[in-house]
Amino acid sequence: MTDRNEAWFERARRVIPGGVNSPVRAFRSVGGTPRFIRRAQGAYLWDENGTRYIDYVGAWGPAIAGHAHPKIVEAVQRAAADGLSFGAPTALEVEMAERLTALLPSLELVRLVSSGTEATMSAIRLARGYTGRACIVKFEGCYHGHADALLVKAGSGALTFGHPSSAGVPEGAARDTLVLPYNDLAAVEAAFAECGDEIAAVIVEPAAGNMNLVKPRPGFLEGLRALCDRHGAVLIFDEVMTGFRVGLQGMQGRTGIRPDLTTLGKVIGGGMPVAAFGGRREIMECVAPLGPVYQAGTLSGSPVAVAAGLASLELVAQPGFYERLEALTARLVSGLQRAAEEAGVPFAADSLGGMFGLYFAPQVPGSYAEVMACDVERFKRFFHAMLAAGHHFAPSAFEAGFVSAAHTKADIDATVEAAHRAFATLGHL
Ligand code: PMP
Repeated sequence: MTDRNEAWFERARRVIPGGVNSPVRAFRSVGGTPRFIRRAQGAYLWDENGTRYIDYVGAWGPAIAGHAHPKIVEAVQRAAADGLSFGAPTALEVEMAERLTALLPSLELVRLVSSGTEATMSAIRLARGYTGRACIVKFEGCYHGHADALLVKAGSGALTFGHPSSAGVPEGAARDTLVLPYNDLAAVEAAFAECGDEIAAVIVEPAAGNMNLVKPRPGFLEGLRALCDRHGAVLIFDEVMTGFRVGLQGMQGRTGIRPDLTTLGKVIGGGMPVAAFGGRREIMECVAPLGPVYQAGTLSGSPVAVAAGLASLELVAQPGFYERLEALTARLVSGLQRAAEEAGVPFAADSLGGMFGLYFAPQVPGSYAEVMACDVERFKRFFHAMLAAGHHFAPSAFEAGFVSAAHTKADIDATVEAAHRAFATLGHL
């Protein structure tokens, strides 16, 4: 039988760079052929060969209610019938902003955009405009989209100013980005001691999901809050991933820490392109047309996308939604952990609400350096064994995974069962 995934990948590579519209999809770090997805429903994906997979990627986060949830699909169809985009204000956008500000007390004003990248890029511009300062602090291993100033990896040493980690980013765009180690409050204290009056903002994933899953150590986020207060810097929680994923109020709800600005994406679009940035009124009032910080978008607040997002937010607000999601995710993680132990494979796993991390390491990592020390070769073999058995995990050792409300205990148990067999092949490399 022809492998249709292979055939599509070949066609794709002729006309799309690397055959994909976002790099991780290309399977570069795990090798092999990406699955071309024909359709998805609930917890399952079907590829172009008609093979079914239990999905733990969830469109990289948005599919928290399961794929093609009937309520979301219906909302999209209803909105589409009334017109796709107007470039003028709509009632739906107001309802979305009201919903977001009601759910997250730190949001006094919120603006909708179409991607997480736009949200973080705009929040950074706003923080700079509000403070009149240039420097921003980000953390090694945190991803905030692909805006120039944020595409910077750490140089050696805690106080090294960043160099671009992508070609095409001028040194100047990254010069004012200071990259520090995640979970290292002493490094942040040292940075503020040296140049606190130049720092416009600290941007952080309040639980990091772009270097696998790394939780904040007790005191880390509290320390960032205190330092930003002391030095007049804006604290930005990038909750594009954690927002409505780790709980109804994201990490700010779980920790009780109130950021000045928050960025959101993924779940708030229910699978359609909706993202947002918002926060303290005084800061948000600097955004055009009220203030001097320019920010705009032809498709911002698209009625079809916002209708999907509103339906998604309605589903996650059902009583017991996160309790069940968290229990399912914990069941997956503890099942995988047990399976690895039985096979004698050094492995750890962790979860937070509906997201999880899998680490081929003796214990759960707390830093970027510890994540980088994980056994990537073992991950690749595990990934391919699981994929071949019909279980779709993120094709990289450095991405968090996601469970949806459509997963059943039986789905999770089937995955754990398959993992028993996969781990058994990994004992000896
Ligand atoms: N911030 C975080 C924390 C993210 O996880 C992502 C995407 N994974 C982004 C920003 C960028 O979002 P987008 O891909 O929608 O531009």
